[in-house]
Formats: sequence, structure tokens, C-alpha cells
Amino acid sequence: MRHALASTRHPALAIALLVFAACTAPLPAAQQPAVEPSPASPTLILHHAVVFTADPARPYAEAVAIAGERVVAVGTDAEVRALAGPETEVLDLGGRLVVPGLNDAHVHVGPWPEGMHSLGLSGRAEPSWAAVLDSVRAAAARIPAGTWLQGSIGGDALDAPAAGRFALDAVAPSHPVMLTGWTGHGLILNTAALNALGFSLTEPDRPGGLFGRVAGTDTLDGRLWEYPQLDVVRRLSDPLTRADAVATYRAFADQMVRWGVTSVQQMENDRPLAETLAALAEADVPLRWGVFAWPMPLRSVDEPRPDATRPAGLPARVRVLGTKWMLDGTPVERGAALRQPYADRPDWAGRLNFTDVELRAILQSARDRDDQTAFHIVGDATLDRVMDVMEDLAPAETWRARRVRIEHGEGLAPDLLPRAAALGMVLVQNPLHFAIPDVMAARYGADRLPEVQLLRSAAEAGVPVALGADAGGSGRNPWLNLMLATLHPVNPSEALSREAALVAYTRGSAVAEHAETDKGTLAPGMLADLAVLSQNVLDVPPDALPDTESVLAVIGGVIVYRTLP
Ligand SMILES: [Zn+2]
Repeated sequence: MRHALASTRHPALAIALLVFAACTAPLPAAQQPAVEPSPASPTLILHHAVVFTADPARPYAEAVAIAGERVVAVGTDAEVRALAGPETEVLDLGGRLVVPGLNDAHVHVGPWPEGMHSLGLSGRAEPSWAAVLDSVRAAAARIPAGTWLQGSIGGDALDAPAAGRFALDAVAPSHPVMLTGWTGHGLILNTAALNALGFSLTEPDRPGGLFGRVAGTDTLDGRLWEYPQLDVVRRLSDPLTRADAVATYRAFADQMVRWGVTSVQQMENDRPLAETLAALAEADVPLRWGVFAWPMPLRSVDEPRPDATRPAGLPARVRVLGTKWMLDGTPVERGAALRQPYADRPDWAGRLNFTDVELRAILQSARDRDDQTAFHIVGDATLDRVMDVMEDLAPAETWRARRVRIEHGEGLAPDLLPRAAALGMVLVQNPLHFAIPDVMAARYGADRLPEVQLLRSAAEAGVPVALGADAGGSGRNPWLNLMLATLHPVNPSEALSREAALVAYTRGSAVAEHAETDKGTLAPGMLADLAVLSQNVLDVPPDALPDTESVLAVIGGVIVYRTLP
């Protein structure tokens, strides 16, 4: 993906610098002196640096002093160095850039079964159904029977009239086959896979999604959409052990601190919450780790929330943030619910995953519970409907205190911005989704494209913007995502400046988890979570951004990663 974008031209960069003030406007400016006297001398001083604080009261400084887990001073080299005591470790950063630790506000991480044979399909390349079948047939001919065959497909193959288990059974009767839509909202299983996962071939409907069925019957055709597809993921991960999860979390945390990420907010749908928390207690990684639990497997929207009892040994830096609901799909598989039909399928406008009655029950619970609610909302019709129900159920100030989250929010259209701002909703966007401008143009059409994936306008309208990767592997690179947020190939006029994108990835993501009084800015009294970067991300060419690493990462005043000499 990075290579695909390397030659993208960037009109957005030229207009970028005015955004910072607007982006920070919804948040109260911290009015603190640059240097607060502290009884204890600092444990660590970083000086001779360019410190980007994300604090509108003082956006830049030269040095930072830390005592224990918190920042005690931000100021000039002279001011901060004067605070050093005999025990203070003093590091000369040689002019490097320091930023608040990045906070990935929407990440998926979980163990995945080994031993599946990958078909090597690239879903983003939209392989045709015929090409998919060819590759399943070829693999079935040479891979031992019984081995899972797994591939990634796009919206075209998912939607193909011939797609389903019968066509797969014809070419691979003795291998369980799973073809996953790369956006994670639909998949196709053959009969062997349905059997292996314990699904009945007449599995009844349930809330939150649907099973494809042979016309006029209750017989499954092998296609699963939305929550039933999530059930597949959970059933596949069920046999995995605590040790698998611990190893996955540790490897993930190692990579994140190398990129300068110090906080993550996990959208946990692979594993039961209690199991995730137990694995996090054992993994004991240095990251600050928030978890959104999904009611799963979903049988009723009135089910009690997942058990959030904290296991012994779970560090305080792991927090259960709230509950996540997936309300629609994405434009890639045309599952996002739109107010106008898809440009490339004029008889279809997507669908909500829940009925009006279910949606009302979910929002009543969001209003009444003391945890936070995160909604996967992509289509503008879904957002419009959600806000209708919110406005009906409670006054805006009740909702503002809740900070209901719009995960992704491609459909936060210009006319919906004032309502979202009034209701105190937070936009958690994933810049990696801006990397498919051709797909988005096909789905929305040229006239609607300027109204999707708003970022700059959202910030200007007073909707706090947070960023996260919503990806695995190299897609989790926050600097790749920062590049995409500042270029926005789908909608360049909505790109953020480098400073605004950094603010969104730090303070904005802290706002999204009700934590901006503790982290997200470098100011006296804040948690000492920061990264010293390998290059100045405010200056380097866009194509160089994804190469950024931290040379020093600090969480709660403790150095957790260091290559700095
Ligand atoms: Zn996600």
C-alpha cells in the first residue's frame, strides 16, 4: 500500500497549516505555567530537543523534565536544565523531535490459528469470483485434504451471484475453505468449513447480521454477513491458548513502542473479555491498553455486558473502556447504510445491522450505563438514524458527558456535523481507509466523494478527532497512517496538517477515551508518555513518513525502548 501511494500527488500539503487551531478548538486549553516547582528533583531530563507538546497553551518547547511517572516541567533548555539534581538522568537529544506518545484509538490484535493455507489472494485487488475459484481449485489439488484454505476477497467476489458454498464444494469438497472479505464484514465458507466450525446448515437468524440462504429455503448458501461473520472469527480463535494470546500481545507491544505508540485502544472481538484481561495480566506489557468489549456471540441486544472482573495482577494501565457495537458494514462490500444508493449499484443503499427496536435498546443502554459506547458507523444513513434516536432519548448534555464514539465515520457528512458536535460525539477515523480512492469513487460517485471521510471539517465543526490504524501488520504503522491523514487520497481537501494529525493521534485519541487530563499532551502534571523520533515528522517528505521510528520511548516516566546512544 505504501508503494502504491509513493507517487500520489499531494495538493493537501499546500493548504495544511491553518488546521491546527481549529482542530484543537473543542478542547479547553490548559492554563499552566511552563515550569512548576516540584519538591523532588526530576528523575529524567530530555533537552536540546524540538518538543511538540500538542498543548495549545505552549505548542513547542526545548526540554522536558520528568519526576516519577509525570512531567514536571516543559520549557527552554535553560529553564529545565536548572531543575536537575544529583540523581537526575540528563539526555541530550541532539535536536531530535519529541512528541507525546502516540495513542492508537482503534486497533485489533488477537492470536490467529496457524496451519491454514493462504491462497495468496489480495482482497484489495478485487479478484473476480472466477479467479478466486481457480485459485481454490489449484490449492485443493496439491494441499493435503482437511487443511484449511483461506483467502482474502473484495466486494466484487463477495457480491458475485455465483458465490457461495456450492461452487466451493465443487472445486474443494475435502478442504474447509474460508474466503474473507478484507474489510471484515462478510465471508464465504464451504460446507466442510461450516461443519468444522459447528454451524448447522439451517442455522437460525440472529441479531446483527445475516446468513445467505438458498432462495425460498432456510438452507445456508455459505455467505455470512456482519455478526455471524464475527462468530466465525471467534470460533476459529476458541481453541487458541492463553500462551498464544500472551505471545501475540507481547510481539504487538514490542512493535508499537518501536513506532512511538504508548497507548492503544483495542476493539476486542476475537476473544471473550475475561480471557483477554487474563492474557493481558500475564503479558504485562508496558503499553497503556484500553479494551472495548463486544457482546459476543450476540443472541440478543439485551444480553448482560461481558464480565469485566479484573484478574489478579492486571496492571492499572489496562482499562476496560466500554462496549462496542457494529451497526453497519463498509462501502467496500456495499454494507454501509447510505441515504442515497451506491453509485455503482443504484438499486441498493446498504443496510443497518439492527432493527429500530434493537437500535433503541442499544442506545438506551448506552445512555444508562456508566461505561463508554463505541459504534462502528460508516454510512450516513446509520449515523442519521443513531442521532435521531439519541436526540429522542436524552438531552444533548447527557450525551456530551458520554462521548459516544463514531468508529470510522466515513458518513459524517457536512449536514450531520452540527448534530454530532452538539451530541458530543467523537470521530475515531482510520487513515488507512483513505488509501482506496478508486473504490470509494466507484461506490459514492464523483459528486458525493467530497462529502465522505471528512476530517478537517469535523475538527472545525467541533467534533473531536482521534486516529487509529484499524489494521494488522504493517498497516498498524502510525506514521503510514499519519501520512495518509495528511494526504487524504480520497478527499484531499479534508487532509490534516502534520501538527493537526499529531494532535489527533495524541490528544484527540486521549479525548476519545476520556483521558485528556492525564495524557496526550506534554505539560506539567501529565503522565510522562512520550517518544523521541528518528526523524522530524514535521519536515520530512510525505513518502518518508512511514520510515519513522522512535529512538526512545517513555511510558509513565520509564524508558521502555531505546536505541538512542
Ligand atoms: Zn475495526
